[in-house]
Amino acid sequence: MFNSLSDRLASTFKNLRGKGRLSEADVDATVREIRRALLDADVAVSVVREFTAHVRERALSEEVSAALNPGQQVVKIVNDELVRILGGETRRIRLAKNPPTVIMLAGLQGAGKTTLAGKLSKWLKGQGHSPILVAADLQRPNAVTQLQVNGQRAGVPVFAPHPGVQSDFEEVTGDPVTVARDGVAEARAKLHDVVIVDTAGRLGIDAEMMQQAADIRAAVNPDEVLFVIDAMIGQDAVNTAQAFNEGVDFTGVVLSKLDGDARGGAALSVASVTGKPVMFASTGESLDDFEIFHPDRMANRILD
Ligand code: GDP
Repeated sequence: MFNSLSDRLASTFKNLRGKGRLSEADVDATVREIRRALLDADVAVSVVREFTAHVRERALSEEVSAALNPGQQVVKIVNDELVRILGGETRRIRLAKNPPTVIMLAGLQGAGKTTLAGKLSKWLKGQGHSPILVAADLQRPNAVTQLQVNGQRAGVPVFAPHPGVQSDFEEVTGDPVTVARDGVAEARAKLHDVVIVDTAGRLGIDAEMMQQAADIRAAVNPDEVLFVIDAMIGQDAVNTAQAFNEGVDFTGVVLSKLDGDARGGAALSVASVTGKPVMFASTGESLDDFEIFHPDRMANRILD
């Protein structure tokens, strides 16, 4: 996903190799190239501005550590700044003191929520949890069936409004808020310790959809609300994230489709713009293409 950004930054740093000390002009030239590389990778303008200002200030003011030459010092500063915009520390799921832990998924249609529900449930099961999936996406024809298929693959039960009678062509009837609430009650009754609630998205931001997501949030009082964003959607990622942040006040971000070859910088901006950490990455269509997101490892990967 970030190959071209990686290459651009590597060639910027190459110019610093062998320099004994960096003049202000060297730093400015480097910062300019970093700015261009980030903008070309689709990183949001506001994020780039702050990022480059920090890099410049630190490169000019910090003592060069004895172990590093000035070029390496700049690489270290850029690395630190990348970690910072990606949310800093790795953020784990907050488990409820009194189970079940409720995890709600939100995001646009096609973002990868239903796929993520399967991945997350499989991963949690592997961690010794006993998750259940709740099909509260009643908007998209086939979403319930798709969740049931994913649940079956993950070996995780699915609570759905009308199990087994969905058609590919008809909308499922029922009230998603009721389904979500009943799903959590089912989890409690059957002693599942984690509930993952899949919700409906639309192709674009839509007041009715956002209200429904907010209503589900209010009804099930989740411990985590994960906003799933398709890293391929480019500049729209930031606006979409801001709208969902206002609409459902999510607690963490999942970057999906990181296996794609789009520029991806907008997705890198989401944590910084919303102040919410990236928690997971989805990297393919199979249920195992799923990782805990470590900001430091992602920064290393970009700067490798
Ligand atoms: P939802 O509408 O948000 O529930 O999105 P889906 O989970 O149905 O995903 C939409 C499409 O994206 C499906 O065809 C998925 O197979 C695909 N998809 C989901 N996650 C990933 C991913 O990480 N990588 C790739 N390449 N495809 C994905």
